[in-house]
Amino acid sequence: MPGTAASEGGGVWGGRPPEANTAGSDAAGGRVWDGVETLPREELEALILDRLRSTVARVLAAQPFGAARLAQAGIGSPEDIRSLDDLAAIPFTGKAELRAHYPFGLLAVPRERLARVHASSGTHGKPTLVGYTAADLENWTELMARCMTMAGVRPGMVIHNANGYGLFTGGLGFHQGGERIGATVVPVSGGFTARQAMLLRDLGAHVLVSTPSYALAIAQALAEDGDGSAASLPVRLGLFGGEPWTEAMRGQIERALPLRAVSFYGLSEMCGPGVAAECPARTGLHVQEDHFIAEVIDAGGHAVPPGTEGELVFTTLTKEALPLLRYRTGDIGCLADTPCPCGRSTVRLTGLRGRLDDMLIVRGVNIYPSSVEHVLLGAGGVAPHYRLIVERPGALDELILECEPDRAGADSGALRERLEQLLREHTGLRITVRVAEPGTIPRSEGKAVRVVDRRAGA
Ligand SMILES: [Zn+2]
Repeated sequence: MPGTAASEGGGVWGGRPPEANTAGSDAAGGRVWDGVETLPREELEALILDRLRSTVARVLAAQPFGAARLAQAGIGSPEDIRSLDDLAAIPFTGKAELRAHYPFGLLAVPRERLARVHASSGTHGKPTLVGYTAADLENWTELMARCMTMAGVRPGMVIHNANGYGLFTGGLGFHQGGERIGATVVPVSGGFTARQAMLLRDLGAHVLVSTPSYALAIAQALAEDGDGSAASLPVRLGLFGGEPWTEAMRGQIERALPLRAVSFYGLSEMCGPGVAAECPARTGLHVQEDHFIAEVIDAGGHAVPPGTEGELVFTTLTKEALPLLRYRTGDIGCLADTPCPCGRSTVRLTGLRGRLDDMLIVRGVNIYPSSVEHVLLGAGGVAPHYRLIVERPGALDELILECEPDRAGADSGALRERLEQLLREHTGLRITVRVAEPGTIPRSEGKAVRVVDRRAGA
């Protein structure tokens, strides 16, 4: 329940000392922040239906655009939602609607009731602005405390938060959750990578929070600062999100740092991070279903069954300021409803592999940057820093992969040939590989720039 006292969560505050709480000792099970996480499905679904009706009522009463859309679909009152199957009758919303009503046109509360705004990084034009009432912030804080507890964060741990603070939700989201749990939060924010390494060592952080690509940049700075091996650091847990990443990348991070890497998912349009996260079993990311309904749809807009890949769609269930019904995220993934060893009853996100608009179409073949990353990092002998460059030198697109060997003095010619062959076998595309000098590919300071599109008009 939102705002539930932490003491109802089953021994949440019974803090063992941080050294006894390493992620390694926290095998399947761990602690549960909120009893709602393990509700029987029937009870959970009754709660979801009740909250869906409340959300529909709020939209009908206070969000004219949403109310008009519902009316067109024949939904004039919350009683028109008889069961969760009726969700399918509700029209989709998307980024375009948020842009069209920028900045405050979709609010369901007077602007004066906003306690804060955040925004997603707009790659072109206006950002996507999201408002929060005080209750929205409270719910988000609880969700982050819940997900971070599930991942293994405990009272008294030191959390090094290298996510950017500001309009981006990654900084303040983890900050609030860490404080709510009773951890010591170090709000380092992004950038100044050498200083990140120094603070991580000096303050003895147990938890690193960052994007996956930035974790690798910090690991490299630790390896190069001459203050000893990163393997001896007390950091045991990494909470990573904000950009798509592969299992191969997870392996790279866990080899470079002595931590267990846990995946977080979210988007500012819902609240930020805290929409879904992994439990210690790492069998997918548990969706916080008492706050968000997750669906996966096919290209025709029809919901597909668990295990089928498609676009993720979320409906907010508790948001006051910006309720969104069936919001199309553009993210690709699957749902899993099989039982999880941790005992949580919520569905899980699996197979997250980036955004629909990250997909490249090169010579008529669809390819995700994550597919290239999977092949590259599985190949061995390669550093986990890369860029994909798309050019159109003549009539045809050319895809170029820039990467680095993992050590100086490597045979770059042999590496290039091996990678080109592997990429052709796994993607069906001829991809030109350029092996750069170690340390020359730009390092991430937050969200990694993986694709440089140099085609005319791009
Ligand atoms: Zn689980």
